[in-house]
Amino acid sequence: MGIDLNDLLCPVCLNQVEDNSHAFLKCDWSSTFWSKISHWCGLDLHNFDTIDNMFEWIEQRRGKEMERKILGLNIVWEHRNGVLFDKKEMSPIIAFTKTQDDSLCWVINRAKKLVIDRRIWIQSPFKEISM
Ligand SMILES: [Zn+2]
Repeated sequence: MGIDLNDLLCPVCLNQVEDNSHAFLKCDWSSTFWSKISHWCGLDLHNFDTIDNMFEWIEQRRGKEMERKILGLNIVWEHRNGVLFDKKEMSPIIAFTKTQDDSLCWVINRAKKLVIDRRIWIQSPFKEISM
């Protein structure tokens, strides 16, 4: 009887009970991913205690739609679901690279008149596009 602890654990690390903050921010996988994104974007993304705090921060910034895409919130959730439902692992480094490519594709499709140098984008997306 009772709740099986394994059902509550994060499917990615199997170390902690999964809640939104753990899944999106504090899991080792997510933490590594955000570290890469922080460095790439030149943003300090390490101080969020909750995902709600992160969303509030994004809402207060200009260009928030683009930032959401660049920041790769979707890919963290896709990775978690891939592990849980399809038993597919993706390293945070691969997820980071995929985020760089996906966000560039998204920006190019949204702003067809912009000429974006992929090499500069990969170095720093906010240098390439002023928001
Ligand atoms: Zn975890």
